[in-house]
Amino acid sequence: MCAIVGVFGAKKASTVAYYSLFSMQHRGQEATGISVANGEKIKLYKKRGMVADVFSQETLDSMEGSCAVGHNRYSTAGSESQGDAQPVFAKYKLGEISVVHNGNLVNKNEVREELIAKGAIFQTDMDTENIIHLIAKSQKDALVDRIKDMLTRIEGAYCLAIQSRSKMFVIRDRFGIRPLSLGKLPDGGWIVASETCAFDLVGAEFVRDVSPGEMLTFEEGKEPVSEQIFEPDYHPCAFEYIYFARPDSIIDGKNVYQTRLQMGRKLAEEVPAEVDLVLPVPDSGVAAARGYAEGLGVPFEMGIVRNHYVGRTFIEPTQEIRDLKVKLKLSPIKHLIAGKRVAIIDDSLVRGTTSKQIVRMLKEAGAAEVHMRIAAPEIKFPCRYGIDTPTRAELISASHGVEEIAESIGADSLGFLSVDGLIDALGRDRTYSLVSFDGNYFAGGSADTPGCAGGC
Ligand code: AMP
Repeated sequence: MCAIVGVFGAKKASTVAYYSLFSMQHRGQEATGISVANGEKIKLYKKRGMVADVFSQETLDSMEGSCAVGHNRYSTAGSESQGDAQPVFAKYKLGEISVVHNGNLVNKNEVREELIAKGAIFQTDMDTENIIHLIAKSQKDALVDRIKDMLTRIEGAYCLAIQSRSKMFVIRDRFGIRPLSLGKLPDGGWIVASETCAFDLVGAEFVRDVSPGEMLTFEEGKEPVSEQIFEPDYHPCAFEYIYFARPDSIIDGKNVYQTRLQMGRKLAEEVPAEVDLVLPVPDSGVAAARGYAEGLGVPFEMGIVRNHYVGRTFIEPTQEIRDLKVKLKLSPIKHLIAGKRVAIIDDSLVRGTTSKQIVRMLKEAGAAEVHMRIAAPEIKFPCRYGIDTPTRAELISASHGVEEIAESIGADSLGFLSVDGLIDALGRDRTYSLVSFDGNYFAGGSADTPGCAGGC
């Protein structure tokens, strides 16, 4: 998952990057980092923790330069070392370089083995380090050509911002799987960010999305230069709209909140329920629950309170902690729920942990019936393109039917949005990456490919 930002030609690039990363904190809470270039050298600061905790005013003030790249890292089980934070910085033949990456390279292991066989040494498990090595190893004279060489060797999902001491290069893979937008700062500088919510915070004007297969080169005193490196084969990730992105972001021309409302409306058409109340799982199910309630013509209530001081459920890798975390995070308003037949809406069901806890919580609060509705199709395959999903064995829908899952989570009924319904809600004007639902690994790799080791 993760967030990236690139800032070029700004007076205080590190501050712009900082606020951008702050607005994209939801994309990764484990570690954060910024590197700044001032034409002569690159300065890097990265650390485990949230953006506001990692950077102090003093740190930002010490990072002078008009170009910055930054990253928020999402936590993935088993890989939590500080060394896995980004940007990844290196010195090489042409000078200094710093890279941030959102996505997941499906051929990471093959490329890494080949590089190791030729004598390369690696300090982290991140696929982003492959990128640095491939650039350093290329025999081309100019960095831009080395980057192009590197791009012929990587496969999968990637949005990249690459910084040298005086230039910045931004690349989106040819499928456009992960989002990436270009904006103009009030002081005339440029910004690229995973989500447009970053632009709103720093006062940038949205210019356009970076096109699939496009590379943008930023150089002092020039307009950004666009090159179409690969033939586009557009497949934006449906899961960004379902769960991951912030509702106020506009991804590839579509507002995330609106698409979620539409998923809820579609869900009401496909799997209605005879209920007195519709409740969302806060915050992830709110927009879809509004759509569902509207579709059914039943009142919508914020019947579950969320404690905002607890991180997202997925952050902790062990099952034990995950169970406890749901309770720490969510609590029902009993007098709203007691004696009522309720539909509870969440954006997705992965292992079934959250749903099970919530159904139990609602029953304990006195609900007469609990009907669980999921505003996404059944997740049967692990995403290998940058959304952190567990192995197939842990995905409850990979091995259980809807009835069985309803029973295991203790719900009176369970319903999912169909894949067709999801596409209807998103719009039929493009082809989406639906890999978690249909197992179509169109960008390479398979269910057995290693997931996000750090780049995503
Ligand atoms: P689970 O409890 O395993 O069924 O996970 C479902 C819950 O996790 C839902 O409430 C989702 O909002 C949330 N969720 C879904 N996908 C992810 C993800 N990749 N990372 C973090 N949380 C997720």
